[in-house]
Amino acid sequence: MSNISLPVLAYYRTTDVLIIATVIGHEVGHVVARHYAEQFTKWLWFTIGMMIILAGSAGSGIPPSPQGTEKLAELILNPCSRSNDKEADYIGLLLMASAAYDPREAPKVYEMLDDDDSSDSNFKFIDDLFSTHPSGKTRVAALSKPKVMEEAMTIFSKAIEATRREEEECIERGFDVCGS
Ligand SMILES: [Zn+2]
Repeated sequence: MSNISLPVLAYYRTTDVLIIATVIGHEVGHVVARHYAEQFTKWLWFTIGMMIILAGSAGSGIPPSPQGTEKLAELILNPCSRSNDKEADYIGLLLMASAAYDPREAPKVYEMLDDDDSSDSNFKFIDDLFSTHPSGKTRVAALSKPKVMEEAMTIFSKAIEATRREEEECIERGFDVCGS
């Protein structure tokens, strides 16, 4: 094993890139787990429920109660989206690791996004995007479980090894730009 310095790995470590890797990992995690398809079915049930409520209120002349509507939304939409987010966090962690981003950074990112409500944040839009998500503490605790992190770290070391091999091959072949 030769000792080639890997500029690409230094680049991976910058905070901004890690934030983006974590957030994209989470979002792709939703896609991989087909949550959007599930969410569609839930919305359909919610719409049917709302139509029943509205039909009932039209029949009786009593307007639908906002609390009733809220309760329906809570029952159908919320609990599942919380568990979907947990699943997306987990899949995102493994995806991030397989793309050679250090998975140990993900809990730090969630913690940071949780704390950081300062207006000077470069990632204010992510704060907004994640405002409906579970608290950072819950997510950090779930991702920091030894079994979860060990699995991610195994994937990460294989990914790093593969990146290193690709770079070595690239340099051996005499290309000028390797690893970018
Ligand atoms: Zn999510």
